[in-house]
Amino acid sequence: MIDVRSATVQFGGVTALKEVDLAVDRGRVCAVIGPNGSGKTTLFNTISGFVSPTAGSVLVDGRDVTRVAADGRARLGLARTFQTPRVDVEATVRETVLCGFLPSTRSGLLAALIRTPRVQREERRLATEVDELLERFGLEGHAGHRLSELPMGLVRIVDVARAMAMRPKYLLLDEPAAGLTTDEQQLLVSEIRRVAGEGVGVLLVEHNFVLVQDVSEHVVVLERGAVLAEGAPGVVAEDPRVVDVYLGV
Ligand code: ADP
Repeated sequence: MIDVRSATVQFGGVTALKEVDLAVDRGRVCAVIGPNGSGKTTLFNTISGFVSPTAGSVLVDGRDVTRVAADGRARLGLARTFQTPRVDVEATVRETVLCGFLPSTRSGLLAALIRTPRVQREERRLATEVDELLERFGLEGHAGHRLSELPMGLVRIVDVARAMAMRPKYLLLDEPAAGLTTDEQQLLVSEIRRVAGEGVGVLLVEHNFVLVQDVSEHVVVLERGAVLAEGAPGVVAEDPRVVDVYLGV
């Protein structure tokens, strides 16, 4: 599991996170909600390795990764998406998803250059896997489209498909439902359920509480950098403190 222990993050004089504990188990969906400025992005970045905590630690499957950079954490099985997907808008949908697979391919550079039979077999295997993933996310009709031609909602779905191509142990989703149509949100929810069912631990930072209630087993509510409440979505939604600071606004 991902285990955040008493993480504190300070940016100059601002305490963005205060002694936050959080656990993300394999095969489960954990969501982080909270008003703007409550520390959600900072917590997400602390887990994915884009922010280094001032105090506290982050463990992945028992290993302390607090000082491991983001790319090292990706190699340990953490795949993340971005609020504004960091994708090459000139790349096609197929190329973008293919990129997610590349870190796991095994051929060396020389073998790739002279396209040995093994490389050719691997290319065919990859092409099939890309096709399967595109189909799973309803993207097969867009395979040849450049990302610049797609609405933002679809770009987000492509980014999730790219992250899944990494075959992560943990999938970290930063506001994935923003800008999605109701149909796309449904697709996202069913994919999140499916990947959790396959044993992936999912962490979701999300504004859309309806989606959070629909998909997550555990919800952590942040307020001013600290955990205000946590538990099952139905329980959290009825907690008067949560209603006050978050759902009531
Ligand atoms: P949320 O994602 O819940 O909106 P953030 O994690 O972005 O909250 O921000 C938490 C607090 O930390 C806010 O007060 C924000 O202004 C501050 N903050 C976030 N990132 C930085 C940064 N890089 N430098 C200075 N302050 C930051």
